[in-house]
Parts: sequence; structure tokens; C-alpha cells
Amino acid sequence: MRALALFSGGLDSILSMKIVIDQGIEVVAIHVNTGFGSLNDRLTYMQKMCDFIGAKLEVLDLKEKYLDEVLFEPQYGYGKNFNPCIDCHGFMFRHTAKLLEKYEASFMISGEVLGQRPMSQNKDALGIVQKLSLHDDLVVRPLSAKLLPISKPEREGWIDREKLLDIWGRSRAVQLGIAKEIGLEDFEPPAGGCLLTDVQFSNRLKDFVANDTLEIEDIDTLKVGRQLRLPDGAKLIIGRNQEDNLKLEATNSKKYLKARIVDATGPLVLFEKNASEADKKMAADFIVSYGKTEAGKVYDVNFGEFIVQGEKLASKDIMQKYLIV
Ligand code: SF4
Repeated sequence: MRALALFSGGLDSILSMKIVIDQGIEVVAIHVNTGFGSLNDRLTYMQKMCDFIGAKLEVLDLKEKYLDEVLFEPQYGYGKNFNPCIDCHGFMFRHTAKLLEKYEASFMISGEVLGQRPMSQNKDALGIVQKLSLHDDLVVRPLSAKLLPISKPEREGWIDREKLLDIWGRSRAVQLGIAKEIGLEDFEPPAGGCLLTDVQFSNRLKDFVANDTLEIEDIDTLKVGRQLRLPDGAKLIIGRNQEDNLKLEATNSKKYLKARIVDATGPLVLFEKNASEADKKMAADFIVSYGKTEAGKVYDVNFGEFIVQGEKLASKDIMQKYLIV
């Protein structure tokens, strides 16, 4: 018997897999990459967690489909920020179900806990997620199964309902107790990873979609640097440190020019192409102001396709006016 698990990396998803594995059922952990997590930074961690409990890990890249099917018109709306959690879970189950045949798996599990999130994990919401999965009888939530309607895997005896749990609510005491019991350490705090639940990132995203069409490569640029929207609408992304500068340097987006100060140390910057002359001048001033430059001196800023002179602004407070977040 084999099951596929929705695996976010969080404690609940790890424990839901462990409970099923302890019944002698093989588990393949499916981590859906929506583009809004921090997959590259977390892959080693996720592999470590899967190794610990004895699950195989597969990453399912659904970035493009996520933009097409979920992000902009979620049938069941958004949570507190830009997070369409109900539609998102349904989407993840729906696409994971397509792998059932490949892995010769019989059902799917997740770490959802009844009552843990008021909007997306109440009884109605869990029922909606199951419907959206298009395989509602094949979904098992091991952490709360005893409080939920019986599913086919339980009915058919593929999995022993008696050994599943009845966790309800926001307290994580039971989960933390199990983690301690099995020696699981260094797991992520709850909701770690999804930027759509982050207020700052959600504001950046809202600003972006109000001004542009979001494409896959835009998602990574939204994660980096200090972001400003200039008066005529051009976007400026300023690296805050070496890590940001390297990420911006590696960007291949056709929407931006890469800019830096000539003859002084300063940040790497992405600046929107086709900007007005006024925005170009303001961008040059901002870039000079964020560099190691002297007040009153004029510097050339190289935008790759053109050079604009910039001066250090008297106060960085001026820039706060244009900060998106
Ligand atoms: S927190 Fe993010 S990844 Fe998780 S269900 Fe909500 S939108 Fe999807």
C-alpha cells in the first residue's frame, strides 16, 4: 500500500506522514512548488525531514499552473493576505492525484488539522478542498481523521482509522508532544515558507499586478531588495546587501535594465525598461544615494543602454515616499 502526501515542510505534514508510515504504508512526499515558497533555501531541510521519517521526496513544479488556475481568481477568496488557501489546497490535491498512477499509490494525505485556521481549515473548508481535489473520497487527514467523515481508504481497511488522530484547534501541544516522542528536532515554525501569507510580500504583489502582468520570472524579483515605484510608474529594485546584489545580477527578466554607479561602490539595481526621463533621473539619484558617495558630487549611473547622472539626495527619507513596502 502506498500513499502520496502533500508536504509543505511544516511539522503537521511531517507528522501526518509518520502516522501513515507507522502503519506500514509507503509514503511519497509531494512538495508543490508554487513559486511563492523558498524552495531553494529549504530543499536540504525538506530532504532531511523526509529521510528522518522514511518518505521519498518529489518536488512538483506547478508555478505556471498556479498563476493560471489559482492566484488571481480564487473561487473561495483570499485569507488575510494574498493567500488563496482553500483553492490552493484543492489545486495541490488535484495535481497530486495525477501522480497516483505513476507511483501506484491508492490515496492522498495531508497535514491539515481541523480548526487550526479559522477560514481555511474549518469543517466546511476541508469539505470544499476535498471537492476541489476531484478525488474527495481518496483524501485522508491523519491528524484529525477521527473527527471527519470516514474516507474510502479507512472504509476499505487500507488504513486503520483507529490509529489516526483526533486533533482539533490551534494549539500545537499534541504535535509538539509527538515530535518530542519520536526525536524530531529542528523543524520549521508553522506557516514557514509561503510568502503569500506575508503582509509585506502581499503588498509588493498587489502593487505589481496593479501595474504590470505577472509572469513566472517576476516572482523571484519580487522576493529581493528594496522596491520602489517612481512617480511615472517605473519600478526600481535596489539590492540591500551582497546577497541581494548577486540575486539581482542573476536575473534574466526582459522587463528590467541592470544599473550601477560608475566610479563608486553601490548596489546593483534593476530598473524597468521604457521608463520616462523623469523616472530615469530620479532612479539615478536614488542609486547614487544608496551608494558610497559624497554629497554634492555628481556620478554617472550606467543603466546598460544609457548613462544618467545622479546626485546624492539630502535625505533617504525622500525615498520612503516611493517605497512600495
Ligand atoms: S499558505 Fe500558501 S501554500 Fe499554504 S495553502 Fe495557503 S496559499 Fe497555499
